[in-house]
Amino acid sequence: RTLEVNSSQWTYNVYIGPDLRFEVSKYLPNSYDKILIVTDRHVEQLGYLNEVISDLQKHAKQVYSFTVPAGEESKKLDVFEQLQTDAIKKGLDRKSLIVALGGGVVGDLTGFVAATFMRGIDYIQVPTTILAHDSSVGGKVAINHSLGKNLIGAFHAPKGVIYDLSTIKSLPLVEKRSGFAEVIKHGLIADKNMLNQLMEHVQTLETINQKILEDALYNGIKIKAHIVEQDEKEKGIRSHLNFGHTLGHAIEAEAGYGSITHGEAVAIGMLFALQVSESHLSLSFSNNRFKNWLKQLAYPLHMVKDLQIESLIERMKVDKKNQSGQIRMVLLKDVGMPELYTINENRLLSELKTFINEVI
Ligand code: NAD
Ligand code: ZN
Repeated sequence: RTLEVNSSQWTYNVYIGPDLRFEVSKYLPNSYDKILIVTDRHVEQLGYLNEVISDLQKHAKQVYSFTVPAGEESKKLDVFEQLQTDAIKKGLDRKSLIVALGGGVVGDLTGFVAATFMRGIDYIQVPTTILAHDSSVGGKVAINHSLGKNLIGAFHAPKGVIYDLSTIKSLPLVEKRSGFAEVIKHGLIADKNMLNQLMEHVQTLETINQKILEDALYNGIKIKAHIVEQDEKEKGIRSHLNFGHTLGHAIEAEAGYGSITHGEAVAIGMLFALQVSESHLSLSFSNNRFKNWLKQLAYPLHMVKDLQIESLIERMKVDKKNQSGQIRMVLLKDVGMPELYTINENRLLSELKTFINEVI
């Protein structure tokens, strides 16, 4: 299946289907002499790198690869520099292509390398995680600074996204759970039917019905694409994609990156945002059923009990969405109707206390 995304730079296609890694060359928008594939150690070890190399060798004279260590640690300046050095030494130029083969880490890092190498060259995303259905679309690319996540980055749209759904089968359960939270988020902010489908048919993440997952990823990408097309630079509605992330980011930072995945933290943040939506916007939604579903999918809701409420609030205050010191959260008037809302700090504190007491 194919989706078209209109960015201010150019229009690109997202191809979604099984085993696409064997035919990446078929979907390239131009011809290229030199191609550099960037991946991480896990993805290489699974054999995906060699499969993509074999295919691309049919297309380009020179196909190179560069493997970075797996995990968030690779989204940093010195790995970025190593990649730039490698690209220069291999003689890449403005007519070359860089391929990001992996999850969101490889995608963000590689995209930023492509955005800055010789002031910007073509790259394509070949996502291999559920989470990357989200991160590979929209052109936000970045690396982390020791003082904060994603602080150094750019907007640089890919020339294409080639999403091989078969690669998801090898994902560890905890990574499926992380990515699936963003799928749920897309349903909550934009598509009631999609959410109902998921709640009805996904009872475990160990084995997800392939058809259900495919449809959900397709719809999720469509929703993300639709939002970023209207607000590429996050001046308005792109912030709706931040649903669940105000508390989610605070939890991740407070618990320590690595001790909980991004999506697990976002799932807890979404449950909280739903509670606040009920009290602030009279959303009517069966929160209990949703909470039980998250528990069934083994999202670690109880972990918030071990965190300091005051520190969480402090962290929520430094969120990018805030303006003049006021805390802003994305809330839902209804499923599919998000709205950015300013919350009084004292009310937020009492909401968070209630939330933590009732979470298990
Ligand atoms: P990731 O890239 O680290 O992948 C998670 C783990 O799964 C890694 O260990 C990786 O090696 C492994 N892996 C990847 N594909 C696999 C496969 N098919 N089988 C088995 N293992 C596989 O993390 P992620 O969750 O994909 O992405 C998280 C990153 O995405 C964060 O850095 C976040 O900031 C970024 N992000 C960016 C955007 C954006 O718009 N640019 C949006 C959301 C998140
Ligand atoms: Zn997220």
